[in-house]
Amino acid sequence: MSVIAITLPLTPEAARLMRGVNGRAMRLFADGYRAVILEDLTSEVTSPEGNTYRVNPQNGSCPCAFQEQHGLPCKHSLGLGKLLQDQQRANLPGHPFGPQMRFALGQMVVTKGADEALAQCNASMLSYLRRHSFGDWGEVDKADKRANDAGVNEEDRLLSAYTLPDGTRIWVITEWDRSVTTCLLPDEY
Ligand SMILES: [Zn+2]
Repeated sequence: MSVIAITLPLTPEAARLMRGVNGRAMRLFADGYRAVILEDLTSEVTSPEGNTYRVNPQNGSCPCAFQEQHGLPCKHSLGLGKLLQDQQRANLPGHPFGPQMRFALGQMVVTKGADEALAQCNASMLSYLRRHSFGDWGEVDKADKRANDAGVNEEDRLLSAYTLPDGTRIWVITEWDRSVTTCLLPDEY
């Protein structure tokens, strides 16, 4: 993989190519591409056909045929930022927990009891919602954990349980249709 440097002015042929690439880069999400951010902060972009490309956002490198052939930035590198943003929006408008989210949370609500319990410990509801959305189910038992893992991509209700710093237990429940996620105390259920 090499660092991509664009030399200006582009040749007419390169300029023509880049116009097409820029257009396609902006609609990766709609075209069915998906990306995950990896530990080393590169991203793995998967095409609708299932091909994967490891894109380095630092230098824009991507091992795809287009970069190799033309030495120009490809749609994967140019569109990565927007793709990640579109994914976040699709998961949860206004609450970008990032592409690690394993399912949509829908509208997020907190009951009065849970709200008071969280405030008492200065704890943030968002941090528990984020853990839940990443598939960290907290302290549910083995059977519930298995049910959650199996139910993420099904129409199943998902339940997490967490213990606040003062020992209070809270639940986070996402409804089967992913329309609402509720943060509540167990006795409010
Ligand atoms: Zn590429």
